[in-house]
Amino acid sequence: MFSDELITRLKRAQTVVALTGAGVSAESGVPTFRGENGLWKNFRPEELANFNAFIKNPKLVWEWYQWRKELVNKVKPNPGHYALVELEAMFDDFCMITQNVDDLHRKAGAKKIYELHGNIMRNRCVDCNEYTNEDDVQFAESDALPRCHCGGLLRPDVVWFGEQLPQRTLMQAFDAANRAEVFFSIGTSAVVQPAASLPIEARRAGAYVVEINFEPTVISHYVDESIIGKSGEILPKLVARLRQDRSSSEE
Ligand code: NAD
Ligand code: ZN
Repeated sequence: MFSDELITRLKRAQTVVALTGAGVSAESGVPTFRGENGLWKNFRPEELANFNAFIKNPKLVWEWYQWRKELVNKVKPNPGHYALVELEAMFDDFCMITQNVDDLHRKAGAKKIYELHGNIMRNRCVDCNEYTNEDDVQFAESDALPRCHCGGLLRPDVVWFGEQLPQRTLMQAFDAANRAEVFFSIGTSAVVQPAASLPIEARRAGAYVVEINFEPTVISHYVDESIIGKSGEILPKLVARLRQDRSSSEE
């Protein structure tokens, strides 16, 4: 399943980076945008996850986020998330760059995570930009919308279609891609920019780039190695293989 080249590179590597997308959380029961069950009340995510939609109908967009938050609160990290935490412990310089907003990497115990698209559990005010946590937000049963103490509307702190990514986080992600000796692109369709450029950038800078996905993607022909399968099955196997190699080389 894993090439000798990959295993050799990982044995030597100090800097390993993993870019993750919605596919990594699919086995936890969080639907991907492009998969089945990605729809809510027949809306496409693009129709709701944008600022214009929010201003036009904040209640509808909030209902969708409340539905997604409840879903995410009910689910648990899967073996793929936990295997990434084990990988984090194996390398001097390991980080995760995620497009997920579901907080599952952190729940699994990951420490160094760059969240490119924000976090669904955090909110911010459209007027004063101040952050609040979900717990602070009182959703009245009535039609009232969640508001900041300044009176401004609160919105989920996620990056919507057409919005800029958090620039500092993006810079840190590109820095990591540039330093990576091995770069994983896991469970992402690699079509949402600028995240999709990260594996390309990493490879250009000399990393060995490995894709793990349920099906081939637009970058499959470009990467050094493409492993087809579920991340929740493949990642624990990779960890087991590395552990086995490490223990046999210690003997
Ligand atoms: P995507 O929905 O475009 O693609 C998901 C990818 O995961 C697909 O290529 C699919 O083949 C693959 N996949 C599905 N199940 C898998 C599995 N078990 N193992 C390995 N691969 C699997 O997701 P994306 O590329 O991450 O981008 C969509 C955007 O939607 C992101 O910006 C993200 O912010 C947002 N989103 C986030 C979540 C979340 O936080 N969990 C969920 C849906 C969408
Ligand atoms: Zn405010």
